[in-house]
Amino acid sequence: MADPSAADPSMADAGPLKERIRAAARAAGFDQVGFAPAAPPTHAEVYEAWLAKGYHGEMAYMAREDAVRRRLDPREALPGCRTLVVVSLLYGPEPVAPPSKRRLPVVARYALGRDYHDVFEERLDALSAAIENLAPGARTKRYVDYGPVLERDHAQRAGLGWIGKNTMLLHPDLGSYFMLGELLTDLEIEPDPPFVHDRCGTCRRCIDACPTDAILDGRVLDARLCISYLTIELRGSIPEALRPAIGNRVFGCDICQEVCPWNSEAPSPARAPFEPQPGQPMPPEDMVAWAEELAPLDADAFRARYRGTAFSRPGRDGLLRNLAVGLGNAGRPAARPVLRRLAEDPSPLVREHARWALGVLQG
Ligand code: SF4
Ligand code: SF4
Repeated sequence: MADPSAADPSMADAGPLKERIRAAARAAGFDQVGFAPAAPPTHAEVYEAWLAKGYHGEMAYMAREDAVRRRLDPREALPGCRTLVVVSLLYGPEPVAPPSKRRLPVVARYALGRDYHDVFEERLDALSAAIENLAPGARTKRYVDYGPVLERDHAQRAGLGWIGKNTMLLHPDLGSYFMLGELLTDLEIEPDPPFVHDRCGTCRRCIDACPTDAILDGRVLDARLCISYLTIELRGSIPEALRPAIGNRVFGCDICQEVCPWNSEAPSPARAPFEPQPGQPMPPEDMVAWAEELAPLDADAFRARYRGTAFSRPGRDGLLRNLAVGLGNAGRPAARPVLRRLAEDPSPLVREHARWALGVLQG
């Protein structure tokens, strides 16, 4: 990718370093840019209590001692770190499939395209190169959401929005359909004013609408109950009691964002940042067709087909597990042939969920 500072000649005399970095971040394609101090996060105690209660489920990487240490202080992630440049990318509110049409697979809005981690990494690398041009010798380290950074906490401190009751970062003009990334740097840059207002007020639409009661009081999410966790992060079996509530959501869940009034007029970006690459497969618009497409693939063939997309995260077995749950919930007899095939799948995980779905169809 081109060096953004070179791409934008006006940056050469764009004022103080902070504003030149802000301009470089915008030139790299980010929608929001803010600066936060490299200090322990405000919600460190909440995070430690969340881990202690096991709400992170199987995401053991979040509870690893070194990762916790770095999450609780960005200076552990980049020694000498003084500033976090927090950036966001809007991905827009367009629905990808109406949940009312039960044969359709519903996938999270951000997932139909390039894996957002790759997009962030490219753009953060461009920003890092620009900073190096502006301040030779400055050190930087990038993070997207897999990294040991409590990103929403830092984003709030950088003025990008408030943490809503659904635990997402919200902005009054932008809603919550955006992803966050961070560049840690040893440059000392004056922080932006934090976003101090809580605009949730007495609203609790997200809490009431969550089909699995995953949103607890105090802006705490029990990830073990969240459909996004169950369909993307969880490697094993989805607890049977939670399967009916998943409906036809076969990859992620946007319900607690869809019902949020701050998203009712959320803007769409001029060009979706996670647009599919040429040749990238789009999932069929029917769960039966998608399951039929995936069933004959082995893990390598699946990886080759879905490389560079968010679907590679649950992998072939995880996605077929989710589709089996969706097909069972949809209650369509047309799903029986593919479910019978999946009930003999080499993967025990797929077999178990397909047999459950056949049992549901048999009533
Ligand atoms: S993503 Fe879905 S399941 Fe998870 S908290 Fe939000 S509404 Fe609940
Ligand atoms: S739905 Fe209501 S309570 Fe939930 S995040 Fe949005 S404004 Fe806050």
